[in-house]
Amino acid sequence: MQGKTEDTHIKRMANLLRQGATLTDLSCPACGSPLFRLKDGSLWCGKDEKKVVIVKEGEEPPKTTSNKSMETLEATLLAKVQDIQGKIERTENVDELSKLSTALSELLDSLEKVKRMKKS
Ligand SMILES: [Zn+2]
Repeated sequence: MQGKTEDTHIKRMANLLRQGATLTDLSCPACGSPLFRLKDGSLWCGKDEKKVVIVKEGEEPPKTTSNKSMETLEATLLAKVQDIQGKIERTENVDELSKLSTALSELLDSLEKVKRMKKS
């Protein structure tokens, strides 16, 4: 029952608000639902019913870790780009070629984003 689930979700959110939680403009990285800030300052996803940790800009800067994970991500993406590039060279199937090109362009977009995030 889709409607019913949505209903309990809304009720749960209303309950959180009654308990003094505030609605934030952040969304859950897992399900995309709006997040609540509980009175103890932690973020809560009303849909997943669990605490969510989001590292905000300017807040607790684990810069080294975050940069390191960006490096790893970038390396992974680059490896995939090379992988797909090789497949594109080998394939003679038009459908596959089109799929590979889409994947490649998405990967390149992601790479751009990672690069921008590293800079900021
Ligand atoms: Zn969630």
